[in-house]
Amino acid sequence: MEEVDICIVGCGVIGLAVAAGISKPGRKVIALEKNAGFGEETSSRNSEVIHAGIYYPAGSLKARFCVEGRDQIYALSGKWGIPTKKLGKLIVATVKEEEPELEVLLKHGLANGVTDLRIISGKELKQLEPNVRGTAALYSPSTGILDSHRLMQFFLGQAQSKGADIVFNSPVRKIQKVGERYAVSVSSSESDSFTFSARAVVNAAGLKSHRMAESVGMDIDKAGYRLKFCKGEYFRVRGGGSGQWVKRLIYPVPNKISLGIHVTPDMEGNLRLGPSAHYLDEAGLDYEVDESACEAFAKDTQRFLPMLKSDQLVPDTAGIRPKLQGPKEPFRDFVVCEESGKGFPRFINLIGIDSPGLTSSPAIADEVKRLIDVCL
Ligand SMILES: Cc1cc2nc3c(=O)[nH]c(=O)nc-3n(C[C@H](O)[C@H](O)[C@H](O)COP(=O)(O)OP(=O)(O)OC[C@H]3O[C@@H](n4cnc5c(N)ncnc54)[C@H](O)[C@@H]3O)c2cc1C
Repeated sequence: MEEVDICIVGCGVIGLAVAAGISKPGRKVIALEKNAGFGEETSSRNSEVIHAGIYYPAGSLKARFCVEGRDQIYALSGKWGIPTKKLGKLIVATVKEEEPELEVLLKHGLANGVTDLRIISGKELKQLEPNVRGTAALYSPSTGILDSHRLMQFFLGQAQSKGADIVFNSPVRKIQKVGERYAVSVSSSESDSFTFSARAVVNAAGLKSHRMAESVGMDIDKAGYRLKFCKGEYFRVRGGGSGQWVKRLIYPVPNKISLGIHVTPDMEGNLRLGPSAHYLDEAGLDYEVDESACEAFAKDTQRFLPMLKSDQLVPDTAGIRPKLQGPKEPFRDFVVCEESGKGFPRFINLIGIDSPGLTSSPAIADEVKRLIDVCL
């Protein structure tokens, strides 16, 4: 049976960042992707925001990796020309009653090391963004946007130049622990299947990552790894782009399950609204955008951007968040875990990598490299 040192399952931004981080001459790394290309799932169906690190509880992996990853992405952008724009972001209180929440977010952000945050008055908000209505706002100058495709292309190129094999059209069907190694079975059809042996496995399978853990024999309920799926839809705004309406990212005060429908300029300067948030069953995942939701999107957004009209909205994309917490459940952190403790040494699970996973990708890759260097 063919042998490799490390098998990575999944070539979204996380699998690719890990492949770039852990590959080196003399180490045999293979990254397998079920689709025909990289990043066709959650990694290309998101807001493309470089989050500053405001929302997450202090000491959480989300807080740490977001702040580290943000700085790494801006540094990579400067060095390698990956397109980013540090536009800044405003979280807007539309009524006085929402203002205490800005204080809470400010405290969270400061505790996480986001030192450039400040609360601004309604008057200053008007000066910065004349079309936005609010009584106060939390201003985050270091939030930005990026071209996620170019970031993934960069990680792919880095991984390949260090000798990693990136293989598409290769769904991993089963992983079995055999002695000190893992037998990884791949099959795109009945007739086209093969099995090889890996000393270590990195599970970066996104929406299927809990199923990969289950396939090797982990009790995903006992481990708390069963994913829930929270869909987010986007609408594009016809007109109003290129800084005519807003120059920065404009967010409402967040709700319990998501950051709220926000207004985000994309790299081309067009405006997008979204994402919404509603949970789906695992069997019924789809990327359809419900056109009839446009009135609700417009109504939510008009609270802070009154000039928006619902007939300016055009259905855009949708993405699905791989969440560990269900509706109304408390915060759950990323799982980044080497599973010796469960009897699976050198099997590294990356599960529940929802937002801010894109921003965190280089920092998650650093952590996986550290885990691999200890256990391999
Ligand atoms: C609506 C929405 C908005 C978001 N906005 C932001 C944002 O603005 N900023 C931010 O930082 N983060 C954001 N995120 C989060 C971010 O997009 C994700 O954290 C990140 O893309 C996760 O990457 P991934 O590689 O883990 O997953 P994926 O991109 O899903 O990659 C997993 C890959 O594994 C492959 N795979 C699965 N099973 C198998 C198998 N059996 N064999 C082989 N391959 C397999 C899949 O095909 C897929 O390509 C958002 C997410 C959503 C849904």
